Amino acid sequence: MKKTVTIDKHSGFCWGVVRTVQIAEQTLKNFADENIYVLGHIIHNPKEIERLEREGLRTITVKDFESLANTNAKVIVRAHGEPPETYRQALKYGIEIIDATCPVVTKLQERVRKFYDLGYQIVVFGKKDHAEVLGVRGVCNDECIVISKLHQAETEVDITKKTVLFSQTTMDRPTFLEIKKLLQEKVQELIVDEMQTIATEFHAKDTICGQVSGREQDLAEFAKQQDIMVFVAGRASSNGKVLFDVAKQANPRTYFIEDINELHSEWFNNVTTVGISGATSTPQWHMEYVKSVIEDLSE
Ligand code: SF4
Repeated sequence: MKKTVTIDKHSGFCWGVVRTVQIAEQTLKNFADENIYVLGHIIHNPKEIERLEREGLRTITVKDFESLANTNAKVIVRAHGEPPETYRQALKYGIEIIDATCPVVTKLQERVRKFYDLGYQIVVFGKKDHAEVLGVRGVCNDECIVISKLHQAETEVDITKKTVLFSQTTMDRPTFLEIKKLLQEKVQELIVDEMQTIATEFHAKDTICGQVSGREQDLAEFAKQQDIMVFVAGRASSNGKVLFDVAKQANPRTYFIEDINELHSEWFNNVTTVGISGATSTPQWHMEYVKSVIEDLSE
């Protein structure tokens, strides 16, 4: 049966990832004779990592700084950002940092730092060991509470303290809103005596990136129009998981793949429309490739 395979027009790199990849490509071009490194995988997409590694980009960790001391090494900081300690280590070992941190993440770090300096209890809705959260933890000397589930807001937050709630930029908004509601109810003015009130303030800064949340509705609409959906992303991508769940909820016949060898021909039996979408770190060229493979399956 002939299939119509369509790529979701709202998928593809977000502008933060486009910017990071452009900085990496420009650096590789400008310093073609030098060793260019990136701290951690440049994006959560194995295909794009392989492509940039073929162009000469090498992936390292901060532990490698010592061995690169005074070698004129240039190290790219990826979109997720880094804690201040990384910049201190680079200075110590004479390493040049090329900062490709996404401006949305830089802004988040600045806000966390501001509220930390004002003495707030910092609560971050995110994954404790996600690279972006490691950066955020660094700007507040790791004096923050990282929660990823609603029940942790109940058990781990000190409700007597003035508190600010942030989110990792790629978390899901519905859970953030539930956590916000719960903390709004719990963290309130604490009456010490008749005359004195300690204002225990609560702020919630919705720092979920619009590039992720803005796609959810479009993706759900797109998924509903397809017989089946193939969602293409790296398994390490946080927003990949969020967006896949959105697609799966809208269309239960949604399948997650990282590469074409995970496609099963039986998915496409008696199917006339196939939708392809991906995370903010899924390159367009990879979705085009998946599309051509699916089209060939139907011939
Ligand atoms: S998803 Fe948002 S925060 Fe993350 S890299 Fe893209 S633009 Fe930046």
